[in-house]
Amino acid sequence: MAMTDGDFAAYKEKTFRFIWDELAPLEDEIEETGQVPRESLWPRFLDMGFLGQMVPPEYGGLGLSEAQFIQFEKEWSKVHGGLRTILHVHNLGSEILQHGTDDQKADYYPRIARGEMSVAFALTEPEAGTGKDIKSRARRDGDNFILNGTKHLITNADFADLFNVVCWTESPSGEFQISNLLVERGSPGFSIGEMKPAMGCVGATHGRLNFNDCVVPVTNVLGEEGKGLDSTLYTLNVSRVRIAACALGTMERCLDMAVDFAKKRVTFGRPIGERQAVQRYLAEMAMDVYALQCVIDDTVRAIENGEDFFLKANLCKLLAIEAGRRVTDQGLLVMGGIGYTREYPMERLYRDLRLNWLEEGTPTIHISVAARGLLDGASTYTSYQRENLETPIQKAMKVFEL
Ligand SMILES: Cc1cc2nc3c(=O)[nH]c(=O)nc-3n(C[C@H](O)[C@H](O)[C@H](O)COP(=O)(O)OP(=O)(O)OC[C@H]3O[C@@H](n4cnc5c(N)ncnc54)[C@H](O)[C@@H]3O)c2cc1C
Repeated sequence: MAMTDGDFAAYKEKTFRFIWDELAPLEDEIEETGQVPRESLWPRFLDMGFLGQMVPPEYGGLGLSEAQFIQFEKEWSKVHGGLRTILHVHNLGSEILQHGTDDQKADYYPRIARGEMSVAFALTEPEAGTGKDIKSRARRDGDNFILNGTKHLITNADFADLFNVVCWTESPSGEFQISNLLVERGSPGFSIGEMKPAMGCVGATHGRLNFNDCVVPVTNVLGEEGKGLDSTLYTLNVSRVRIAACALGTMERCLDMAVDFAKKRVTFGRPIGERQAVQRYLAEMAMDVYALQCVIDDTVRAIENGEDFFLKANLCKLLAIEAGRRVTDQGLLVMGGIGYTREYPMERLYRDLRLNWLEEGTPTIHISVAARGLLDGASTYTSYQRENLETPIQKAMKVFEL
């Protein structure tokens, strides 16, 4: 059974305290070493239920609702982007598995919830765009697929046990269609290479996956063969809203820090918060935080009600990118030179937020997906005019009896 509101409130109180008491103090160590102490943290994450938050309760997880889960994405982002990225991708593994067969769920979900398994998501390729442009191909050979291709920038590749590889698979009749193949670490023909560290979200590593005649049993197709594009798009859109929540967490921390700083920093005998120019930064930051929270809440409501939420998810992520850019810029400006140093987490928040621009799609991709949706008739509102009145073109066609 899913958690009641009362149980969730108690769970949140306990785990948020852990996040601030035990995770937040790791910030300097992670930034200095470039590493998240994942092995020592994993048992603590397990104690806190962080590893099975999106695993349904019947398989041993907490089965949080989307509205509950995004509160954690926000809080993890506040304390450290690297920790957040590792936990975001780990929990995305459970999200993907909802498209699996009953046997796959029974096999993988309990192991994920017990912290014994982590699933990574492998879509991006160095030599291709995403979606139908991907080049990784699996030809059929009896009961196996023979997979060839390369994926890169794959988060948690250093420790994930299972990789959800989005690729073309050959159907029994010889056509190629997009499927999700679950490839186990250590499969013959599968090797993993390291990649250089990223600008922010330090400590979350990403790797290059090489499939060289990699043998994958046909039974390892996630869910139904040929349905990989549908399940990938659904998962990506849910995750876009989660990434917006991550950006929101970063933005809230920036705003808290900027307000605090503006009250304390005195120049020319007065706190800078009394200067109208600085007040404008703070008010605009608060406006962006508030707007993004409202849009996220509405999109989450649409997901939970089973509505078509793809347009909203893309707009939500676009707003997060743009509002997040403004808020992290303004946060830095409020703090002057000291904000640019590591004395405060502001410069880290600035760097961490830039990953949100790329995760689950870049701005131009969100723009083109949103625009395609609009041109196909999707909208975020109901238009009386469009639903009930003739358009000028329809009227003109009548006049000319077309
Ligand atoms: C730290 C990190 C971790 C990551 N983790 C993962 C992971 O776990 N799994 C995973 O699969 N991926 C992961 N990624 C990859 C990430 O999702 C992609 O980098 C991102 O989606 C952009 O794809 P790309 O790098 O191939 O950029 P490109 O597709 O090469 O895009 C380059 C530029 O061209 C634009 N562009 C490209 N095609 C079009 C088009 N058709 N129309 C308009 N504009 C276009 C883009 O918007 C962008 O501005 C990670 C990336 C980073 C940096």
